[in-house]
Amino acid sequence: MKCPFCGYEESKVIDSRPTDEGTIIRRRRECMSCEKRFTTYEKVENISIMVIKKDKSRQLFDGNKLLAGLSHACEKRPISRSQLEEVVSKVENAIYSTEDKELPTTVIGEMVLNELREMDQVAYIRFASVYRDFDDIETFMKELRSLKKQK
Ligand SMILES: [Zn+2]
Repeated sequence: MKCPFCGYEESKVIDSRPTDEGTIIRRRRECMSCEKRFTTYEKVENISIMVIKKDKSRQLFDGNKLLAGLSHACEKRPISRSQLEEVVSKVENAIYSTEDKELPTTVIGEMVLNELREMDQVAYIRFASVYRDFDDIETFMKELRSLKKQK
């Protein structure tokens, strides 16, 4: 952070407090060369991830939509709402910690499947059939067989 008075690059923080309900941090700094004081504001970047769909169109990633899709796949399965929310938040963490700002739906789908596989195999298959878009019964059966092997 360059000093606005002398341009020196190093300053020390003498006071730091959140403003605006904690989304902005106000820092009071002192230049280590001319010792003049100035203020900086630090704001959390709103991270948005774009999802690339099969038809190449892009959509803002929406955790709520993912949750809705998951609840659909898990209908009548012994999985609680909070378990589903946990899956979504795990996936969100994984998504937001990647370097990419754009992710294909397939990548996100695989992240979800990794979580579901452990939790409930029926829900796993249902979700997989939507995300992977099984286009023939053969692929579907192959997936079923690979599940049985893991058991
Ligand atoms: Zn200075």
